[in-house]
Amino acid sequence: MEAHLVDWRKRHFGKALAVAFPASTAAVAQIVKLCAHHRVPIYPQGGNTSVCGGSVPDAAGGGIVLNLRRMNRILSVDARDNSMLVEAGCVLAQVQEAARAVDRLFPMSLGAEGSCQIGGNLATNAGGTAVLRYGNMRDLVLGIEAVMPDGTIWNGLRALRKNNSGYDLKNLFIGSEGTLGIITAAVLKLFPLPQHNVTALIAVPSIEDAASLASDLQSGFPGLVSAMELISSSELELVIRHIPDTARPLPTQAPWYVLTEMAGADDAAAMSDRLTDLLEAPLAAGRVLDATIATSERQRQQLWHIRHHVTEANVKEGMGITHDIAVPPARIPQFVRLAEAALATRFVNATPVVVGHLGDGNLHYIAMFSHGDWAATADKPACTAAVNHLIYDIAAELGGTFSAEHGIGSIHIAEMERYKPPSELALMQAMKRTLDPLGIMNPGRVLPPAPPAAA
Ligand SMILES: Cc1cc2nc3c(=O)[nH]c(=O)nc-3n(C[C@H](O)[C@H](O)[C@H](O)COP(=O)(O)OP(=O)(O)OC[C@H]3O[C@@H](n4cnc5c(N)ncnc54)[C@H](O)[C@@H]3O)c2cc1C
Repeated sequence: MEAHLVDWRKRHFGKALAVAFPASTAAVAQIVKLCAHHRVPIYPQGGNTSVCGGSVPDAAGGGIVLNLRRMNRILSVDARDNSMLVEAGCVLAQVQEAARAVDRLFPMSLGAEGSCQIGGNLATNAGGTAVLRYGNMRDLVLGIEAVMPDGTIWNGLRALRKNNSGYDLKNLFIGSEGTLGIITAAVLKLFPLPQHNVTALIAVPSIEDAASLASDLQSGFPGLVSAMELISSSELELVIRHIPDTARPLPTQAPWYVLTEMAGADDAAAMSDRLTDLLEAPLAAGRVLDATIATSERQRQQLWHIRHHVTEANVKEGMGITHDIAVPPARIPQFVRLAEAALATRFVNATPVVVGHLGDGNLHYIAMFSHGDWAATADKPACTAAVNHLIYDIAAELGGTFSAEHGIGSIHIAEMERYKPPSELALMQAMKRTLDPLGIMNPGRVLPPAPPAAA
């Protein structure tokens, strides 16, 4: 059971009575019914790649883990309808591959795609690197099937693009992190597979220049930008230091790098020429310092290799207090400047390490402590909370959020209380009570306990 009781970053350890591996929706329903009857908490689990303590049980050990990995069948792929029906335990990379096999694209893409599952992606409303063009998981699904906390099966597996027949129930489950029911299958949206792409890593001297470059590239390639990722110099150096086979991508060292990809029907050489033309003026003005455009699939993979290994490199480097904030994209420079100054004043031992989805306004802003400094920190929970509030308060002041794509899990409950309006929290708690009156579905995740209902 051990692998199912600890999270990917080995920060959260739990206990459980058992781990269940159902192979069908009917089996999930039976297990849930049994648990409801005996009031046994259920901790749904997909690929267990959650970075916010959402996928492992608590330390009390009175519940079961329900892992979906045996429900991993691609049930149908319809290229004409641009949709596919999959079980929730399908690994994301498997789904991408099945779409490609019929010349279609399933655009969700993230570093954990070789392990995370569609059910987990839906339960967390995952984001990833292609949100700018294709949206997050909520935008990529047409229908779902879920087992409710009493064991009832709700089949909402419709492949409709339009359906205004009452409340959109699937959206209740998307992003609910397993607290309202277990997602067992989904109808996903597919897209035409872009024929060609151009990928580049661009070095810029300041965060302001990174933001204007992002805006220029989107104007220069209308609707074609499928990735606009930001990588700080500190982050690039960690990947080069800790991840084998990482070549330095550019001779020029710059404070910031933008990894961008455009995909469309034009041939790659034409897109590459257009990008070169677009970069000419900012290069001449010193707003871009250097750039490399991938000229082969191998080079493209080398650039993405850097982006996809940041989390692994960060884990190896030290204790990173990670923040998954979002602000309106134009406010990213302001956020970065304020966070940098606040961290330098209050936590001198912390190095800012930044990576994120520049085009969406979503940054993973990490206060990195060396293993030694962290070991010497007397009150670790207090230090973590102080760093968190520093960063989250800045995001909140700029109209942002403390949780953009990773979810709440077990570690952000206090932030829910601090930053969510009480009326919004009360509404969520009322929904939870209605759908899961016994409170057995992923307890202690997402929401603080509700105050007792008035008599
Ligand atoms: C290297 C790395 C890179 C990452 N990059 C990104 C990124 O770019 N963007 C991003 O959004 N996330 C990212 N993540 C976080 C993580 O991969 C996503 O949150 C992913 O969607 C989780 O899927 P999973 O199958 O691993 O779910 P798990 O971690 O197993 O579970 C996550 C939550 O969903 C619930 N859950 C899981 N399956 C179901 C189900 N079938 N029904 C109901 N509830 C369920 C669990 O109870 C838990 O609350 C990254 C993680 C790693 C390790």
